[in-house]
Amino acid sequence: MIKTDILIIGAGPTGLFTVFEAGLLKLKCHLIDALPQAGGQCSEIYPKKPIYDIPGFPEILAGDLTKNLLEQGKQFEPGFTLGERAETIDKLEDGTFIVTTNKGTKHHAPVVAIAGGLGSFEPRKPGLDNLEIYEDNGLEYFIKDPEVYRNKRVVISGGGDSALDWSIFLADVASEVTLIHRRNEFRGALDSVEKVSELKEAGKINLITPAEVTELHGDGKIEALTVNKDGEDFRLETDHFIPLFGLSPKLGPIGNWGLEIEKNAIKVDNTLNYQTNIPGIFAIGDVNTYPEKLKLILCGFHEATLMCQAAYRIINPGKRYVLKYTTVSGIDGFDGSRKEAPKAVVQSI
Ligand SMILES: Cc1cc2nc3c(=O)[nH]c(=O)nc-3n(C[C@H](O)[C@H](O)[C@H](O)COP(=O)(O)OP(=O)(O)OC[C@H]3O[C@@H](n4cnc5c(N)ncnc54)[C@H](O)[C@@H]3O)c2cc1C
Repeated sequence: MIKTDILIIGAGPTGLFTVFEAGLLKLKCHLIDALPQAGGQCSEIYPKKPIYDIPGFPEILAGDLTKNLLEQGKQFEPGFTLGERAETIDKLEDGTFIVTTNKGTKHHAPVVAIAGGLGSFEPRKPGLDNLEIYEDNGLEYFIKDPEVYRNKRVVISGGGDSALDWSIFLADVASEVTLIHRRNEFRGALDSVEKVSELKEAGKINLITPAEVTELHGDGKIEALTVNKDGEDFRLETDHFIPLFGLSPKLGPIGNWGLEIEKNAIKVDNTLNYQTNIPGIFAIGDVNTYPEKLKLILCGFHEATLMCQAAYRIINPGKRYVLKYTTVSGIDGFDGSRKEAPKAVVQSI
């Protein structure tokens, strides 16, 4: 059982900034995310695109914003359960919560902050029979750890950036990489398409287009695929099949937690602290709704900050928190580090 002060569901920019604001109040955070990496939409959908409306940053790449947020929160030692979807929530008699993921990992906290954005991104699965038999037995929809594929035969399917980028990356890891796409043209970035062509010429990627995987074979784990090219079927031996067809966001299991939902978002009280209709459960960032809501990163940051104050009062009943500027008080990390302005600077303020 993982125990923490604030359990954050969603490691997008809102969830990541919550770690920092909670840390200032000496509250520890643990984050759950269905994706294998932190950053939410910023790292999954548009890591290389610039954002122009983050206060203090005239321009920052979404991927760099994620890196900075992780760096900013690092001293408060957040825990992560990545690649798992928060599935169920149980309220205990003492008012605390247990959240269990689809892989059975249990988390216990007095406060739950849902920062689930557009919902958990579910992989788009191919329309093939018997997928469930092979899932995690050679059939994967995400690449969590590329080392799993070292010296293995891998077939990737898809025409977007993920399929291209992972084919390129695994060309140096796997013993054999085959990329299959149903069209001759790819949707991904031009430089990635060119790189794949180069690797094909160098004999490091086996490119099969236009073609589709139509059947999976193996005794409890993937051993071979049937591939259809130009109307002809052939058998391709492999250890792994990785269809990378993109992700579709769904509010998912959170929609069944008894929370008030309006237009696929969670209703919160924005006049106070973004609490939902269930005391102790808050919803912040893109996942919530209230009059005049704006789905912007800076709004998520603001909501996270106010939510942490409410969490502090739940976790420390009767205790008063006096807001201090970080410039004046400095920051004490949970890792023993201390950041502070030089004394002379503080005295001159
Ligand atoms: C192309 C594009 C450009 C954009 N440009 C800008 C911009 O310029 N400026 C701006 O302010 N905003 C921009 N946005 C919007 C911005 O990205 C969002 O406002 C922001 O990502 C919201 O952050 P969040 O942390 O609330 O949610 P998200 O970033 O959506 O993160 C939510 C996370 O929660 C996880 N999750 C959800 N449900 C579960 C569950 N049950 N279990 C486990 N994990 C779960 C998801 O996997 C996801 O990682 C843009 C969006 C897009 C798509």
